[in-house]
Amino acid sequence: MSTVLETEEHKALRAAVAALGTRFGRDYTTALARKGEHPRELWDEAGKLGYLGVNLPEEYGGGGCGMAELSIVLEELGAAGSPLLMLVVSPAICGTVIARFGTEAQKRAWLPGLSDGSLTMSFGITEPDAGSNSHRITTTARHDGEGGWILSGRKVFISGVDISDATLIVGRTEDAKSGKLKPCLFIVPRDAPGFTHTPIEMELQAAEKQFELVLDDVRLPAGALVGEEADTGLLQLFAGLNPERIMGAAFAIGMGRHAVGRAVEYARTRTVWKGAPIGSHQAIAHPLAQAHIELELARLMMQKAAKLVDDGDDIGAGEAANMAKYAAAEACVRAVDQAVHTLGGNGLTREYGLASLITAARVSRIAPVSREMILNYVSHQTLGLPKSY
Ligand SMILES: Cc1cc2nc3c(=O)[nH]c(=O)nc-3n(C[C@H](O)[C@H](O)[C@H](O)COP(=O)(O)OP(=O)(O)OC[C@H]3O[C@@H](n4cnc5c(N)ncnc54)[C@H](O)[C@@H]3O)c2cc1C
Repeated sequence: MSTVLETEEHKALRAAVAALGTRFGRDYTTALARKGEHPRELWDEAGKLGYLGVNLPEEYGGGGCGMAELSIVLEELGAAGSPLLMLVVSPAICGTVIARFGTEAQKRAWLPGLSDGSLTMSFGITEPDAGSNSHRITTTARHDGEGGWILSGRKVFISGVDISDATLIVGRTEDAKSGKLKPCLFIVPRDAPGFTHTPIEMELQAAEKQFELVLDDVRLPAGALVGEEADTGLLQLFAGLNPERIMGAAFAIGMGRHAVGRAVEYARTRTVWKGAPIGSHQAIAHPLAQAHIELELARLMMQKAAKLVDDGDDIGAGEAANMAKYAAAEACVRAVDQAVHTLGGNGLTREYGLASLITAARVSRIAPVSREMILNYVSHQTLGLPKSY
């Protein structure tokens, strides 16, 4: 893939991460996913090499770079067939929010561990009765009368809670219940009394599981609230959501590249007519070329979004991050579909291991924000069209 917009450092990072990803590869990830295990070895090694916290501040053990670099890490691991989904959540969302809005104590407690991978944090915003409408979330925090908090609510589809030391839970304070969303973010340790997580059975072949969470009057110290109470609000949440969308795009682009790479390799050599490999038929070649173009275009928008975030333009980044996530998901779904088709019957075998990407690719259309909610965003925010809801 062309990397014309990248610095020499970016290219070197890309090459180094690609080498690490290739060393593990899709067979490693698939074997673990089938056993329901986390890619701990890869995670630890990526942490040791400084890749996991490349976006986090240097003074707290991070790499001092930004989303441009973290998205390279995820894209390259994915392109090698060994993506780390928790990169979307742990350093990108939780790390960014804590680095920008956390108290000094929270930064010291979490950022070094999130950077080297010794600590992992998951992120919970989705609720069963709110779904795409996060203004409707009802997870509520009330003061416990002793300076702490009591948090109650339910969350669904939260990734990686079993392997996370804590979950960053998006709630609202009691007095904000009836008004517009005034989010407040709480760091909830995995073993907090009243906090339970139950796996949701998904038709997905992935190392990371999704969970339903119940917060039943979970008592938390004052220091569990990210930042100060007076400062809580949408800005904190947005600080995490742009990185989340950029990483959603990186995940999809990586997967799409992996699928196209595998299909091209197959199409070059598979021959069923005299002398001509199937890749010489335009019906096979053109859709793969199209998939490659669409992935490249999506990456351009992802780079723009990452640059805006890294330059501190959260508002400007909102549109680009949404567009990048949209373009990447659509490109990924089409790339995977075409890759599976290219392999004919082998596209559906366990041996070739491509078919499971069909469901995996669909995730990128739904999470972290659905295709329709992005189209709504662009309709309303960019085009100024009226809302139907
Ligand atoms: C594998 C996976 C991992 C996930 N990990 C996490 C996680 O770690 N943390 C977390 O908080 N969440 C996570 N999620 C949840 C994810 O963010 C939600 O599934 C997503 O935001 C959609 O919400 P929903 O499933 O409730 O769908 P709904 O909101 O019920 O939407 C259903 C359908 O209706 C469409 N729709 C809804 N409203 C509108 C509208 N106004 N206009 C047009 N169409 C509309 C949607 O686009 C969608 O197609 C994960 C989900 C999956 C599948």
